[in-house]
Amino acid sequence: MRLSAPAQTETDNGIEVHEEEWGRVSVQRCYQMRCDCGRSWFELELPQVVKCPACRKLSLISI
Ligand SMILES: [Zn+2]
Repeated sequence: MRLSAPAQTETDNGIEVHEEEWGRVSVQRCYQMRCDCGRSWFELELPQVVKCPACRKLSLISI
């Protein structure tokens, strides 16, 4: 196993600067479906008709 060298914190003017590391977050909208049978799940698009993954019933979406 190799030990990595200590991070260098020296800058030109001698002041330590700790830069924050920024990540990236992507956002995704989704719709929560809830069937009469009690099962709920998520869809990325809002369909007009959905099939419940639990009871296999086709249902019209009502908002
Ligand atoms: Zn169902």
